[in-house]
Amino acid sequence: MAQPAPSAPSEPTPLPPRPPRVGVLALQGAVREHVEAIRDVGGQPVLVRLPADLENLDALILPGGESTTMRKLIDRYGLREPILAMARSGAPMLGTCAGMILLADRLADGEDPILGLLDVAVERNAYGRQLDSFEADVDVPALGPRPLHGVFIRAPVVSDVGPGVEVLARDPEGRPIAVRQGRVLATAFHPELTDDRRLHRLLLELISA
Ligand code: GLN
Repeated sequence: MAQPAPSAPSEPTPLPPRPPRVGVLALQGAVREHVEAIRDVGGQPVLVRLPADLENLDALILPGGESTTMRKLIDRYGLREPILAMARSGAPMLGTCAGMILLADRLADGEDPILGLLDVAVERNAYGRQLDSFEADVDVPALGPRPLHGVFIRAPVVSDVGPGVEVLARDPEGRPIAVRQGRVLATAFHPELTDDRRLHRLLLELISA
């Protein structure tokens, strides 16, 4: 009978790679859906409410919600500087809807920018009252031929893009609704409200890129 190959007991078994830790800013808004999406793609979601929650994160998601409220809470809890430091260290970030407004460097109505991590101007509530909320398929060639299903809820649009910003998708009027600048991604719509995980997977890929 064949003997099992002798194992070398002195060799330590390598530890399994730890799942990437992805923070989800959990001050307000569509937090739970991003948490589920991160679990689905093999990441470990971490709720971020205080600066200490940002320690040892590999990436950060800024969810949709109400950017005016999030602006106040970011200031109240002292999150702005540690988020900026995390971006400077090269951690990928994904902002959806209000999260895109948080990331923008310029706000079209003259409001002060909140984080200023993305070289775009953003117009809040750009689809107006008539189209408060709607759903539409969005072509995102960088994610493959199948369109993303976009859920738009009082959505912003990008009204101006800086030179280093790649437009990933546009609305039927040609206005950018998904952009990427290096490791910073933003969408005007809510990919987390569908079961398409391609954007969350891209965020994880950017960690090791
Ligand atoms: N209209 C909201 C704002 O200006 C964004 C809406 C959303 O995130 N669904 O902050």
